[in-house]
Amino acid sequence: MSLIEPVSSLSIKKAVNLYTIVLFLSFGILLYWLAVDRYQTFIDSHEDKASNTTKVVAFEIHKTLREKRRIIDIFIDSSIELIGELSEYPDDDDIRELLTERLRKYQPDFFAFNIMDQAGVPVIGDFEGDVGELCLQDLQQYIKTGEQHIRLHPNNNAYHYDIVSTFTFNEVRRIFFVSFYTDDISDMLKSVQSDSHSLILINKEANNLIELTADGSRKTMSGRLDFRMNGNESFRVLSTAKVKGSSWHVVDMRSEGLFKDYRNKIITEYTIAFYVFSIIVLFMRHILLNQDEKRTAAERQLQKNNNKIVELNNQLELLSKTDSLTGMYNRRYFDEMINLEWNRGLRSHNPMACILFDIDYFKAYNDFYGHQAGDSCIKSIATLMKDTFRRAGDIVARYGGEEFIVVMADCDDTGAVAAIENFQRELEKLRIPHEGARSGEYITTSAGFYVQVPSRDESVEGMIRKADQALYQAKAEGRNRWVKFSG
Ligand code: GH3
Ligand code: MG
Ligand code: MG
Repeated sequence: MSLIEPVSSLSIKKAVNLYTIVLFLSFGILLYWLAVDRYQTFIDSHEDKASNTTKVVAFEIHKTLREKRRIIDIFIDSSIELIGELSEYPDDDDIRELLTERLRKYQPDFFAFNIMDQAGVPVIGDFEGDVGELCLQDLQQYIKTGEQHIRLHPNNNAYHYDIVSTFTFNEVRRIFFVSFYTDDISDMLKSVQSDSHSLILINKEANNLIELTADGSRKTMSGRLDFRMNGNESFRVLSTAKVKGSSWHVVDMRSEGLFKDYRNKIITEYTIAFYVFSIIVLFMRHILLNQDEKRTAAERQLQKNNNKIVELNNQLELLSKTDSLTGMYNRRYFDEMINLEWNRGLRSHNPMACILFDIDYFKAYNDFYGHQAGDSCIKSIATLMKDTFRRAGDIVARYGGEEFIVVMADCDDTGAVAAIENFQRELEKLRIPHEGARSGEYITTSAGFYVQVPSRDESVEGMIRKADQALYQAKAEGRNRWVKFSG
């Protein structure tokens, strides 16, 4: 019997482990989601900034080109006489000098000018070499479409670009072609330049890709357009914007290192967060399981105590039924049992025998051998008695100091006499010496018995009394014998 049902600690451990895993997973997913979101925000903000930068710079360059064009037109208007004269006398160095001086006042960053007829045949200056070839292409385009289409040209160590205008002198239409250095545009690009941030100008429509960097040099010229327009493993293109009225594109690029550094920073921070969280979760798990272990141990102890109580109860129950010296049923328990047996006899109408035994001259035994020897003698007789009366339905108990009672169910006179004689014979065989006995040399017993069919008119007490009277008679008749109660 168990008073407390033990709670399965295994299920608590399983639940705690499951919660731990769920916590880890959900926090991991949350951190991952936050990290991705933060990284994306970082990229978006740079793309936004880049988009603004390229738009503003593209517009500023467009404004610069338009302004140059406007100034050139004003220059032509105001210098038409001088330009006309030079067209008449192309070899007149004075006029050329004068015009150059004048143009420098208007546009200090120009480096060459040409005057052509409508077909593009030079009147002043000519187009020579690779650069000349490129300039000529621009000119042809201008003549064909009339569109101002400004291109970058590589020029020895740097670049130049051209502004083309048409004017009429003495009713003859001519073309004025001015080439400029790119310093002012390079300066614009330079204004937003940094180690990880580069802003370049790309001329997509040139034969080769031409790229203008913030330092205005040609050394970064690249042969691959897509490489510069889409980025590569070391550079990421964030935004591009076309410069109106030209074939130029402003490209904003950031070094991949910038993104990589930021990505690493996020990974480091979130890994630390995850570790801290892990430590907290594992610590809590440890506390929970520890608590559970303590509780389980307490339950186990309780269960142990409980078992002990049950065991003690059983012992107590046995003690209350039995006699401590002999281990036989005691008189109190005998009284309970005999009543049950009596009631059974009432129903079955079978006879039962009640026998009382008493050790002969036991006082003298005690006196002679001592009380302890008396005790062990009683024990030996009790053991023999238990071994002798062992039929189902036999009740054997210690009835008093050196008196024993036996009740045999379904037993008649003959059976009772046989059982008593058998016992007395067996006792004789034990040959327990008894110097003080007057009936012989060994321990003997006297017995009185009565056999009756239980009935409503009779009682257990009456039956025992009659057995007792018979015993009394056996004593009186000289002991070591049996007597049956007779009226
Ligand atoms: P009788 O033959 O007439 O029965 O004589 P008796 O001496 O046996 O009878 P009596 O009733 O005078 O004495 C019984 C003795 O049994 C008295 C008592 O000291 C002894 N006795 C009773 N119970 C115990 C016990 O548990 N241990 C021991 N050692 N002696 C006991
Ligand atoms: Mg006695
Ligand atoms: Mg006696």
